[in-house]
Amino acid sequence: MSDTEILYIQKRPPTLTEMTGAEVAAALKQTDVLLLPVGATENHGAPLPLGTDSMEAREICRRAALQLEQAGCPVVIGPVIPFGTSSFHMGFPGTVTLRSQTLISLIKEVCLSLYASGFRKYALIHGHDGSLPSMMVAAQEIVDETPDAQALVLNWLTPLSKVYHTIQTSKKGEGHGGEGETSRLLATHPELVHPELGVPHHLPPEVMAKIQGPEHIKTGGGVFYATRSYRAHTPYGYIGDPALASVATGEKGYAVIVDWITSVLRRDYFGR
Ligand SMILES: [Zn+2]
Repeated sequence: MSDTEILYIQKRPPTLTEMTGAEVAAALKQTDVLLLPVGATENHGAPLPLGTDSMEAREICRRAALQLEQAGCPVVIGPVIPFGTSSFHMGFPGTVTLRSQTLISLIKEVCLSLYASGFRKYALIHGHDGSLPSMMVAAQEIVDETPDAQALVLNWLTPLSKVYHTIQTSKKGEGHGGEGETSRLLATHPELVHPELGVPHHLPPEVMAKIQGPEHIKTGGGVFYATRSYRAHTPYGYIGDPALASVATGEKGYAVIVDWITSVLRRDYFGR
């Protein structure tokens, strides 16, 4: 293997990490909206890399930014937050977890630093739903601690789960690292994805319902089920059948997620 081998390709637009200060200043003349991808470094089993959720969050922001740009609603994408609260994946090697308080502070301090540059409207976009509670606290505290910032958290799992059955080929419960997520990463980072290393692993519907289901708050319901350990549910670290993944399924998933995010941001931050 040569040291010039390309690991993966990242398409435009850049995040703040790849921009210059002058480019940010120019962008701020057009917009004060910042999309912040909040990722994770956590086990997804043999088919997917540990940074899957960070890559997904970035890709969602990337596609949303392009769609918004076309609608005359420019945004800047913030630096990818590479860690989340992933305590329940700690049974698998490579997982990194932050305490909720650390993640809240990290998100807040990134956003408040960029407030000093001139950003006022924040959209926190997750790649890992386990971080949603901390993201919501961070959003509230950003508003509490500034006179005029606005902040919202976009949980795209809710609109996506309503149409999962029309997108995925699997008729069983696909969850973390399953057909849907593997498909989305396959669509953007084929060099890093190995669906063939997956063997099917499904959970009984009543168990699955407490991980993601209509009753769960993260997928549109009213009950928050705290998670103990993924290892108790799956020796592989994923739930579902990653081998069913396809680029077409990934593209359909992204389309649902990005259309929803774009419509919320147009309505709430651009008034159109
Ligand atoms: Zn994930």
